[in-house]
Amino acid sequence: MIDKKLLEIIACPSCKGNLDYDKSSNKLVCKKERLCFPIEDGIPVLLIEEAQPLAE
Ligand SMILES: [Zn+2]
Repeated sequence: MIDKKLLEIIACPSCKGNLDYDKSSNKLVCKKERLCFPIEDGIPVLLIEEAQPLAE
């Protein structure tokens, strides 16, 4: 789970766009760039180096 308020303030570290929370994978998704960022212990890891390509 992730705090909704936190979700509102965080942005993609790459394009500064909005991130969506994906419940099933527990990741933050940048739809624009088709990247996802992991969440560890409820804390989003917003590092470009940690970004993974979004699965189809
Ligand atoms: Zn992005």
